[in-house]
Amino acid sequence: MQIAHSQNEKEVIVQSDFLSGLRAYASEETALDMESCDDAVHFLYPERLIENATKFVSGFGGATLYAIKANPNPSLIKLFWDAGIRRFETASIREIEMLSAMLPEAEIYFMHPVKSRRAIARAYELGVRNFAFDCAEELRKIEEETGHADDLRLFLRLHMEQTDALHPLNDKFGVPMQEAPLVLQRMAGFGHKLGVTFHVGSQCMDPTAYRTALAKVRAIVDQAGVELDAVDVGGGFPVFYPGMEPAPLETYFGQINAALEEFGFSDLDIMCEPGRALVANAGTVAVRVEMRKSNRLYLNDGTYGALFDAGISKWPYPLEVISGQGVEVKGEGAKFKFYGPTCDSLDVMEGPFELPDSIEEGDWILFHHLGAYGFAMQTKFNGFYSDTVVSIEAPKAR
Ligand SMILES: *Cc1c(COP(=O)(O)O)cnc(C)c1O
Repeated sequence: MQIAHSQNEKEVIVQSDFLSGLRAYASEETALDMESCDDAVHFLYPERLIENATKFVSGFGGATLYAIKANPNPSLIKLFWDAGIRRFETASIREIEMLSAMLPEAEIYFMHPVKSRRAIARAYELGVRNFAFDCAEELRKIEEETGHADDLRLFLRLHMEQTDALHPLNDKFGVPMQEAPLVLQRMAGFGHKLGVTFHVGSQCMDPTAYRTALAKVRAIVDQAGVELDAVDVGGGFPVFYPGMEPAPLETYFGQINAALEEFGFSDLDIMCEPGRALVANAGTVAVRVEMRKSNRLYLNDGTYGALFDAGISKWPYPLEVISGQGVEVKGEGAKFKFYGPTCDSLDVMEGPFELPDSIEEGDWILFHHLGAYGFAMQTKFNGFYSDTVVSIEAPKAR
């Protein structure tokens, strides 16, 4: 990493080995100052991205697939590639086309259980061989649209009970347990390599949820009497947010490895699909106060922007204030309610959010740990949107 000093002595890093293609700054303050951006500003922290990727690549007992919906920033994806992540979890043909153009060597998994026929055919054309499904009808679609290919590996998505996850992902997809053995037998009949996958729910606070799921996989496979090639334990690995202190990742990896051993899956191709745990603590969104009306703050980003989870899901993020005037924003903590920039009344974040009571127009509020499901979820509704993403090379310890 080379640090170049610009003329006004702000530390602007013009060349970075880390997040290629992004402007890089030494600190958030410098970035806000130099970018002089009228929209929200997205920060990425390359060292944390590398740290997170390394934890998975060296600590998880199988392959790590990055679930790119959490944050599809191309520089970030390239960084993960350089850190040793070779497989990627996708849900749409646009995600697949972006990845295959950017990283032709990447192994792409098309894990949405319900796909359009055209997307299946195009994905196969682009070299995708791993597909998920959760019912016999989708299996038929995959068969037909790949021309009855004999080089597929198919993953049956299992339905999971509600677990101790803050953001359930169990209700929409997944074959019911009673039907799973029959579908597995049908898959085996086509001669494909067989995999099983599930998702215990995002921000899963209970490390034993994966063992419970793997016990079910064992029971279903025994009932079906088929040979598995792969087990994919999905995503769901949690990160720290205020009021949520999960067990360390190593505990999750330990539980999963022990269960794989116990249920006789250790020799298979094992994988996981983290999204949140790879990127959440490696990103921050800075939004500016445009107006203060007593304890109501009107911001330049909201629930139609990067703050959907902050408002609609009431997800707690660590907050910090950076003054627009170059002086520290001090004062007692006071409780605020936030309003986003669009004219829609759903664009509101109840909070209450605690901030210094001297906050005023022009100050920036930093939502930390918003590297996942923030930038990725922005709409362009009402013309409010931010595509300003910069790299922060030397963040202060928090
Ligand atoms: C969203 C998603 C993931 C990532 O989930 P996290 O909770 O962010 O780790 C992984 N796999 C599938 C199929 C998903 O839909």
